[in-house]
Amino acid sequence: MKNSGSNRLKILFASSEAQPLIKTGGLADVAGSLPIALSEMGQDVRLVLPAYPQAVVGAAPLIPVTSLKLPGYSGIIRVLEGRLRGDVPVYLIDAPDLFNRPGNPYADPSGADWSDNAERFALFCQVVSQLSLNRAGLHWRPDLIHCNDWQTGLIPALLAFEHNRPASVFTIHNLAYQGIFNRSTFSRLGLAEKLWRYEGLEFNNSLSFMKGGLAFSDWVTTVSPTYAREILTATLGYGLEGLLQYRADRLQGVLNGVDYTVWDPASDPAIPQHYDATTFHLKKINKSFLQREMGLPEREDALLFGHIGRLVEQKGVDLIMQILPGMLKFPHVQLVILGSGDPELERFLCQECGKHPDRIAAVIGYNEGMAHRIEAGCDLFLMPSRYEPCGLNQLYSLRYGTVPVVHRTGGLSDTVINATPRNLLVGSATGFVFDRPDVDSLWRTVNIAVDLYGRPKAWWHKLAVNGMHQDFSWNSSARHYMEIYQKAINNPALNPLAGAVLP
Ligand code: ADP
Repeated sequence: MKNSGSNRLKILFASSEAQPLIKTGGLADVAGSLPIALSEMGQDVRLVLPAYPQAVVGAAPLIPVTSLKLPGYSGIIRVLEGRLRGDVPVYLIDAPDLFNRPGNPYADPSGADWSDNAERFALFCQVVSQLSLNRAGLHWRPDLIHCNDWQTGLIPALLAFEHNRPASVFTIHNLAYQGIFNRSTFSRLGLAEKLWRYEGLEFNNSLSFMKGGLAFSDWVTTVSPTYAREILTATLGYGLEGLLQYRADRLQGVLNGVDYTVWDPASDPAIPQHYDATTFHLKKINKSFLQREMGLPEREDALLFGHIGRLVEQKGVDLIMQILPGMLKFPHVQLVILGSGDPELERFLCQECGKHPDRIAAVIGYNEGMAHRIEAGCDLFLMPSRYEPCGLNQLYSLRYGTVPVVHRTGGLSDTVINATPRNLLVGSATGFVFDRPDVDSLWRTVNIAVDLYGRPKAWWHKLAVNGMHQDFSWNSSARHYMEIYQKAINNPALNPLAGAVLP
C-alpha cells in the first residue's frame, strides 16, 4: 500500500540513463528500477534525465510542464513530463542542441565521446539544481536529490552554497569514469571560481565532475559493500582514495537490486520457454533455441558458456579469449558472447568465431532480448571482471539457473558463494569464485566447473537451483537507501569549502 502521509519523502532521482528509456549499462537498470521500488514503498519519487530522442519516445505521452533560461545556453530549456513504466513521473530536460542527437548518451554513432560532454552534463546539472530548489516553476520541492555517477556530480557542488537546499546523496556506479576535463573547460562552463580548489572540483589541475559528488554530497554510496571498501585503496581509488577515506563515515555500500518483473525466467517475454526452480528441466528448451539463434549445433549435451557485456579490459574478456584454446579441447563446450567495445577485442572474437563456427558464436552489438535469451539458455555465465562495482549479470544468471563463474571482487564477491566441496555438501554454493583475475585462476575454475557438470546431474541441479532461490530484489536495498536518505536529511554535511580561505 502506498504511503500518502506526512512521512512521505520527496525524492528527485537524477541519472544520465534509465531503462527502459535509454540504456548503456548497469546504471540504467538501477535508475529504471530503484525509483519504482521507492515509489512502491510510498515515497514521492521522480526521475530526471536528459531528453534524448529514445527517452522522448519511451516516456510518451509527454507534457511540457515548465521552461527556463540559464546563462551560457542561448535557447529555452523545456521540462517535459512523462512516466517511467506508467508509474513514476519522469522529467526530461529538453535542450535540443545538446541532447537531441543520434548515438548513445555519451558517444556519437561511431562510438566517439561527444566533444561537448562537459557542456551537456553541466547544463543538465544546472537545470536539476534549479528544479531541486523549486526555482523552475514545478511547484515541487524535493527533500532529497539522489545523484548518480559523474554526469550528475556537479549538482551537490552547485547546491552546497544554497540556503534551504535539499539533502543530497551521490552514488558511485563506477569510479573509473570520472568526468575529467581541462582547466579551460572549467572557465568556459562559468562555474564559480571558488570551486576551483583541491577541496572542491579541482583534481590534478583538471576539473573533476565526480569530485563534485564525492566532496559536496551529504552521503556517498556505492553499489556493493565490498566495492565500498575497495575504493578506499590506491588500487581501485583512482587517486580519489584520500577523499573517500576522508568521507568514510558518510560512505556506504548498498547492493544493487534486481527488478524481477523484468528478469525472471518464469515470466520473461523475451525467452521461448518459461521455467522456475521447480521446472528447471525446461531450461534446456531455451538452450536449444539459443544454439539455433546463434548458429551453433543444437546439442543437449553441450556445456554452454555465456558472456554479455562491454568488451573492455575491466570485464576481463581478454582472459576469456586466452583460455579459448583450452576450452575448445573439451569437445562438448560451446561459448556465446554478446557485447561491443574495444575494436581489437571485437575483431579477435569475430576471427575466433570464423575459425570455430560450431563452438563459438559472438554477436557484436547491443541486444536486450538476446541478453535475456543468453541468460536463459546458457549453463554457465563467465564474469572474470578485474573489478566490478556491483555487476548485474551474475544476479540475473543466478535467477536464471545459469551458474556464474566470477572473480572475487566488488559485488561479485558479495553475491556469489563458491562451490567448494563443503559449500556444495551443505547446499550453500551458488557459483564458482576465483581469487585472482588472471588466466591461470580462470582456467582452473573453468576446469572445476566442467568437472562438476560431468558428475551426476543432481549436483549441478542443486547448485543451479540454489542460485535461483537467492533473493536480490530491491526490497532490502531500497530500505537501506531510505535509511541513508533519512540520515542525509537529518544530518547535513558541512560544505568542504566553508572553512577554506577563498581567493
Ligand atoms: P556495466 O554497468 O559495468 O556495463 P553491469 O553488469 O552493472 O555492467 O550492467 C550491465 C547491464 O548492461 C546488464 O543489464 C547487461 O545485461 C547489459 N548489457 C551489457 N552489454 C550488453 C549488450 N551488448 N546487449 C545487451 N545488454 C547488454
